[in-house]
Amino acid sequence: MFYRPTKAYINLKALRHNLQQVKKLATASKVLAVIKANGYGHGIERVAKQLTSADGFGVASIDDALRLRQKGFLHPILLLEGVFSKEELSLVTQNRLDIVVHSQYQVEWLLNQRFEQSQNIWIKINTGMHRLGFEPDSISSVIAQLQSSENPFNFTLMSHFSSADVATEVGEKTTLKQLSCFEKFKPDQFTASIANSAALVRYPQSQYDWVRPGIMLYGAGLGTQLLNRYNLQPVMRLESTIQALHWVAKGESVGYGQKWTASEDSLIAVVAIGYGDGYPRHAKNGTPVEIHNQKVPLAGTVSMDMITVDVTKIANQVSIHDKVILWGSQQLSVDEVAEHSGTIGYELLCGVTQRVPHIEENA
Ligand SMILES: *Cc1c(COP(=O)(O)O)cnc(C)c1O
Repeated sequence: MFYRPTKAYINLKALRHNLQQVKKLATASKVLAVIKANGYGHGIERVAKQLTSADGFGVASIDDALRLRQKGFLHPILLLEGVFSKEELSLVTQNRLDIVVHSQYQVEWLLNQRFEQSQNIWIKINTGMHRLGFEPDSISSVIAQLQSSENPFNFTLMSHFSSADVATEVGEKTTLKQLSCFEKFKPDQFTASIANSAALVRYPQSQYDWVRPGIMLYGAGLGTQLLNRYNLQPVMRLESTIQALHWVAKGESVGYGQKWTASEDSLIAVVAIGYGDGYPRHAKNGTPVEIHNQKVPLAGTVSMDMITVDVTKIANQVSIHDKVILWGSQQLSVDEVAEHSGTIGYELLCGVTQRVPHIEENA
């Protein structure tokens, strides 16, 4: 087989290391490793295999949970959005899955089903995100309904932050408000969980019984400063190579729509990666790309299969077939690329497409 030179290297050791760092940050909590969306694009089974020392896994679809069970994982697995249909409940019990309950219709499904063995239920309260969850003033009635059933339910109260990663006064105010709402409505005997990656790092008082880290396990999100401080290492490194090099005269434009014009005679490297591989089409001129340990700027529109990079400043070092890192080195994070593209690292990691081979490395 002949492959395009575009590859996503997945550093298994970094993944294990990042989980250890999470554990050091949240020593009193259990860790629910969030591996939804195919392990944030890294491959769900691959990721789960490295994270066996987590206390449980969080996924968004029952298919993912079943796949993990088929592969022999015996961990608690939480369906983060619960079940989407009543029929899924029999699979939930057969496979001993844990479920979130966020709406009254799900409560009714639970009340109308017989559970033979104990069932863990994570009741979701809306503390201000206004996405999923029961309103705070209805939480006691939801609990009462579920407790009135004969079914052997065990309860956890959970919620989710909207702005734990937002390093502004408003972000902090919002997060603390959500936290105090959570604290106020949490029944004493319930286990509790609210912290995602940003919260478990920035608001340790939010760790409770279970923390739910996602993005930090993959060595992204949080911002460079916190990633460095807690020594979280990038897991995915996206690479390709230079497939053509040519000089463009001052005043000439490069690529679709003439979005970049040479301000001097410029050396342009054409790199074999594009939005067909998951490189963001909205990456602007100047988005950094790494060649020979140096950052050089994207020049012109991202195409389906190619990008063009201004390598004038390293003209005497570059050759055809040289390696290019798009993200995931120590100096070029996926979040930095995302920032230049009007998105977040999460989306870029999830968006690497099928045609890009994922290659495991362990160093
Ligand atoms: C995705 C998700 C998380 C993980 O969030 P990160 O920001 O990636 O740490 C935690 N909890 C819930 C409910 C989620 O959906």
